Amino acid sequence: MNFNVIWLRHDLRLNDNPGFSLAKQAGLPLRVVFIMPPFWLNVDEETPFTSTVRPECKADTGRIGLAKARFLRACLIDLQRQLALQNIDFKMVYQQPAELFRDWKKQGMQQVFTQHAQAPEESHWLEQLEQQNIALTLYNNQTLFEAQQIGHLFERWPTSFSAFRRKIEKQSITPDAPKPPVTISHLSDHFDGRIPSIPWHNDFNTTADSANQDPGQSFNLIGGENAGLAHLSSYLWQARGLLHYKDSRNQLCGSNFSSQLSAHLAWGALSVRNVWHETERWEQQHGENEHSQWFKQELLWREYFHWSMRIYGRKFFRYQGLKQEPLTPPPFNVSHWQQWVKAETGVPLIDAGIKELITTGYSSNRMRQNLASYFIQYLKLDWRLGAAFFERHLLDYDVASNWGNWAYLAGVGQDPRSSPGKGRIFNINFQLQNYDPELTHIKLWLPKLAQYSLKDIQQHSRGDKLLPDYPAPIATEKDAATGLV
Ligand code: FAD
Repeated sequence: MNFNVIWLRHDLRLNDNPGFSLAKQAGLPLRVVFIMPPFWLNVDEETPFTSTVRPECKADTGRIGLAKARFLRACLIDLQRQLALQNIDFKMVYQQPAELFRDWKKQGMQQVFTQHAQAPEESHWLEQLEQQNIALTLYNNQTLFEAQQIGHLFERWPTSFSAFRRKIEKQSITPDAPKPPVTISHLSDHFDGRIPSIPWHNDFNTTADSANQDPGQSFNLIGGENAGLAHLSSYLWQARGLLHYKDSRNQLCGSNFSSQLSAHLAWGALSVRNVWHETERWEQQHGENEHSQWFKQELLWREYFHWSMRIYGRKFFRYQGLKQEPLTPPPFNVSHWQQWVKAETGVPLIDAGIKELITTGYSSNRMRQNLASYFIQYLKLDWRLGAAFFERHLLDYDVASNWGNWAYLAGVGQDPRSSPGKGRIFNINFQLQNYDPELTHIKLWLPKLAQYSLKDIQQHSRGDKLLPDYPAPIATEKDAATGLV
């Protein structure tokens, strides 16, 4: 029997998802699928920067760590339940996309509906389907703007975020309104009413339950469209986060200091257009303010990285990034890498940040900047290994935002203030004093340091006067180049 397929990737939702309305118009029975390619579980030749992934790093740069897997699974379960209510079967498959669709074509598959590629890996998958003459219907549902709205900028793509934002504002380009979900129950494809459990790889069934290791349940985000919509509503309307966002967004921990919508946006459980329009609805009631403006600006940062990734593609995965001049990666320092993955760099701010990232899958923006700066400028490791480590652990991993931010901090991205290879260097003690003066974050993640003062921690981090019961720092500000910020 003939059927069509919706292949969901980073759009795990029914709201504002053109795939469902297109499939409805096409009318054939429908299968909805999420594909996890086997290489997500192990680093292999599909990793765009394979040459730098040394055997020592493989275990810690596989695409999907425990916290991230947990979040994804919750997204898939939520979707499966929502689709079951409409008698639509939802499958999660571990296979190469080209293989799965080749088999399904033989079974009567007519057409695949899926979102446009965000990055080279996905472009490659789509090319493979085209080579097999599989009919593809592509649409955009990851960004605020449509290609038609900003396509005229592609020829001379703004080289900085500020230039991009100015153009968007000057030309009054605004996102379309999000579309409500459509009813598709008549497209049922042999759905027998039973909801099978999402097949889950053994690697993720470990007893090391990351949420149980979270000392303060500091970050406990639930995946799925319903949870995402509830979180958005709660952040805007109950917590009223946009009354203080600009002032609180640099905090390292706490609740509602920033929106923590990124994971929902990254997996597409929330539509970014929905977030934008809800924010504007909030502004209509409470008035636009510097906080809501700043928040929307961050959504524009995401937008800028997304379109930049589509324009520059593989360049983002080179050591030289977007720079013209070839740059040589630093020699691999295995002991620095090993201390990093164990969160034992001997610098409490950094170790606390790594522990939080691995345990919860989240890290504040300020902490991410500190971690990346330390990795690149102090440990002098290839920035792409750091990006891959983040990719493994972040619940909100988003190829464009992650690689774009790492390249930016490494000085090979779109930072107008950097010269080739000279990225941003953050002064650890200055950052600590400004963003964790009470040591709240450090004490949460490294409780054995609870007895020490800010001065004690700073002296230790500088390597001046070491704490008796904490490892010495493997790199201090003396190891970083000059020009600390
Ligand atoms: P909020 O401060 O509430 O911001 C609202 C939304 O704006 C975010 O949810 C996110 O979608 C977007 N946003 C905010 N800051 C940025 C930014 N600098 N770049 C792009 N989008 C932004 N963000 C990801 O979504 N995925 C990643 O993989 C990712 N990797 C990063 C790696 C590094 C080294 C750095 C420095 C930043 C990275 N970011 C990434 C950006 C940013 O840190 C997170 O989006 C943010 O911390 C998420 O928390 P939030 O949802 O509370 O953000």
